[in-house]
Amino acid sequence: MGKVPEMFGSMVFNDSVMKEKLPKETYKALKKTREEGKPLDPSVANVVANAMKEWAIEKGATHFTHWFQPMTGITAEKHDSFIYPVENDRVIMEFSGKELIKGEPDASSFPSGGLRATFEARGYTAWDPTSNAFIKDGTLCIPTAFCSYGGEALDKKTPLLRSMNAINKQAMRILRLFGNTDANRVITTVGSEQEYFLIDKAMYEKRKDLIYTGRTLFGAKPPKGQELEDHYFGVIKPRVSAYMKELDEELWKLGILAKTKHNEVAPSQHELAPIFTTANVATDQNQLTMEIMKKVATKHNLTCLLHEKPFAGVNGSGKHNNWSISTDTGVNLLEPGDSPRENAQFLLFLAAIIKAVDEHQDLLRISVASAGNDHRLGANEAPPAIVSIFIGDELMGVLKSIEDGTAYKQKDKAFMKIGVDVLPTFPKDSTDRNRTSPFAFTGNKFEFRMLGSTVSIACPNIMLNTIIADALCDFADELEKAEDFNSTLTELIRKTVKEHKRIIFNGNNYSDEWVEEAKRRGLLNLRSTADALPYYISDANVKLFEKQGVFSKTEIHSRYEIQLENYCKQIHIEALTMVDMVKKDILPAACSYMKDISKEAINKKQLCADICCELEETLLKKLSTLSAELYKKTVVLKSSVEPEKEFKDVLEQAQYYRNTVFARMEDARAIADEIESLVGRKYWPYPTYGDLLFSV
Ligand code: ADP
Ligand code: MG
Repeated sequence: MGKVPEMFGSMVFNDSVMKEKLPKETYKALKKTREEGKPLDPSVANVVANAMKEWAIEKGATHFTHWFQPMTGITAEKHDSFIYPVENDRVIMEFSGKELIKGEPDASSFPSGGLRATFEARGYTAWDPTSNAFIKDGTLCIPTAFCSYGGEALDKKTPLLRSMNAINKQAMRILRLFGNTDANRVITTVGSEQEYFLIDKAMYEKRKDLIYTGRTLFGAKPPKGQELEDHYFGVIKPRVSAYMKELDEELWKLGILAKTKHNEVAPSQHELAPIFTTANVATDQNQLTMEIMKKVATKHNLTCLLHEKPFAGVNGSGKHNNWSISTDTGVNLLEPGDSPRENAQFLLFLAAIIKAVDEHQDLLRISVASAGNDHRLGANEAPPAIVSIFIGDELMGVLKSIEDGTAYKQKDKAFMKIGVDVLPTFPKDSTDRNRTSPFAFTGNKFEFRMLGSTVSIACPNIMLNTIIADALCDFADELEKAEDFNSTLTELIRKTVKEHKRIIFNGNNYSDEWVEEAKRRGLLNLRSTADALPYYISDANVKLFEKQGVFSKTEIHSRYEIQLENYCKQIHIEALTMVDMVKKDILPAACSYMKDISKEAINKKQLCADICCELEETLLKKLSTLSAELYKKTVVLKSSVEPEKEFKDVLEQAQYYRNTVFARMEDARAIADEIESLVGRKYWPYPTYGDLLFSV
């Protein structure tokens, strides 16, 4: 292994490589495109493509691909080699500007949520020069957006870029109102902490549920789980440590700023956190990180589980989306600044976020909704399905005093001056820690904690950018026409706090009291994906997305359909896997155990007629009853995934999967787990929870 600084970014066509390999003029033109979103001249594209190809070949690449993120939630790639035939049956290596800028994959097999019916099946990929090209497995990967021929987004990157534009536009209006003339752009920044499980690969391969669905569908509780709290931040075991080391190196080569690694709460659970970067790049890099996590695991005879809830009874895995906005001059707008004016500006941004989150709780909930994450939200390990904001007692005090028009006083603290006299001063370090809030202010950023570990972070960031852009837009509208800026500003913040403070909750979000309290406050509690999704297509949301230029009405509807369809499909696969496992493995195991017990009882009786066979009889009776019951439940489960009736629409179908199919799966599991606890170890067909959780 070389030194880290040399290794870092060695597989990335990054700024320093561009500077080295491109003619000065081309480099400048490309930089302008990357930084200001200016369209690229085709002649420039040819020069860039050629330099990219030369660089990639030097690094051993033979192929290129337009790397994109269709609505499957994972990435897609189709590899083309650089070869081009010339005379004498020879080939040369070619890569043109046209191939760099645009690709035409057949879009017909990607989910389009009805967009295909309305528009052409063909789609095209378009180079996103703001995210660096990189080499993976001998292929030059070019990050691209994926759209239909009519321009409808078929992916996660396009709306993310649009949402970044929207917030840029609105935040710039605010900055100009505050007299900021240095900044030219506002960028959203994201750091996503990624949780995962690592288990032994040989054990993984024995579990069809893990293979087909990513989670265990059965498993009796082991004697030891996470009760001792001895795993969190514990010493990293050698095998895991070797894995993490190689993972870091692979990520560094790809220019990913892997920074922190540690053991998490559940046995076999770990976390990786990168240093934040722009939302767009962070999204690409998080997708890559998940891919590399899995790949490196295989090399260590491990399997990396990214499912939100691989094991019942211990913590599931989430992803914390740390989000902030900063200027191109490097000023974090969520950091109370040095000047009074900056602090007033900070309070305005804070107010915009409070308004946005309160008005659009539904969209934040939808952005994290999936069959997998439904197992976590509200399960005492993750925030509940209720969206709220934590800002800490001190900032709360500041907002309260604005609302009441009173002075805010705190002893023994360094106070910050705020230009607007009527706004209170507040202490510089006003961030208490809260670990239970779904959306917590952590000093200079917000941490959105409802994300499941598998989800692409694109959607949560699309939502955050869009709703906050919209609130900033309303504020800018009002402030631009204000006669007296300061008094309008104060009034705006006061009004916002008054109207939206119900979304702020600084207490324990895991408590039952909060669920009650939230209900009294009128906050949404959308427990499942099927409950949340209908809000996606409400008139208000369509209007919001259209106004901010992020989604058209058709695009929203297509996403709504895809997310619901996906939810149904996942539960469908889980149900079928369960049926299969019960019939092929669990019942046969129970039967063979029963056979041996009965044989033994008969043998014993033959030897000695009045011998006690109470153990055998009790076990047999119990297992016999449970097995028959499990069989019945399985038949019912099987029939419920082949319903006779036609569903009115995909929403009705999702509700059915949630209320009927999923409920029946839970029933079947409970019995199977009881059977597991009775059957002898060597009869049981799979590694148990104990085996899996303590396998590494
Ligand atoms: P935690 O205390 O939740 O474990 P960490 O320190 O592990 O937090 O992670 C915090 C994450 O927030 C890191 O990924 C970090 O890079 C990111 N972060 C820090 N500042 C910003 C910012 N301005 N914008 C976005 N993300 C940020
Ligand atoms: Mg965190």
